[in-house]
Amino acid sequence: MTGHAVVPLDLADVVELVNEFSDAARLAAGEQSDPYPSFEVPSLAGREHSSELLRAVANDLHPVFSCGADIADAHLNELLARTAVAPRLGPAGDGDQAQALWTVPRPSDELLAACAIRLWSWLTSSTDRRLGICDADHCVDTYVDRSPAGRRRYCSTTCSNRVQIAAYRARLREAPVRQR
Ligand SMILES: [Zn+2]
Repeated sequence: MTGHAVVPLDLADVVELVNEFSDAARLAAGEQSDPYPSFEVPSLAGREHSSELLRAVANDLHPVFSCGADIADAHLNELLARTAVAPRLGPAGDGDQAQALWTVPRPSDELLAACAIRLWSWLTSSTDRRLGICDADHCVDTYVDRSPAGRRRYCSTTCSNRVQIAAYRARLREAPVRQR
């Protein structure tokens, strides 16, 4: 087989990577000087990635969540083209069905391709986009909206609660004193 095999990352792992390593997410949270966490997911077992590579991949992926559909799609297409990720047929397993494989020519592009392929398959298999960034102040973390109604606005219950408490306090401030 020519090229290096790419194992698409789970969507939750893509989100974690973008939120922990992208400059935009770290800056919004005031965490730009914090050390990078470790990033270990089962599908990448045995592969070492430098923080610089993880950061570069996360920076490449953040716009897919944060930009409008047209720009995000063009950006994802550019990432797919840049990595030159391509489908291949792998050897059949127990049955006669050939395996679907993805490969990239350069091993340094494996991680970016593994994330880009997962986002591509998500966007091409759902009727609405269901990718977004958090609406809370001081947070641009990304999320995948799996809620039934598709109206998710926050990355986490932490941010959702933070917004609700701030809104409650604002209402208290605005209420006439005698009503408190
Ligand atoms: Zn958030």
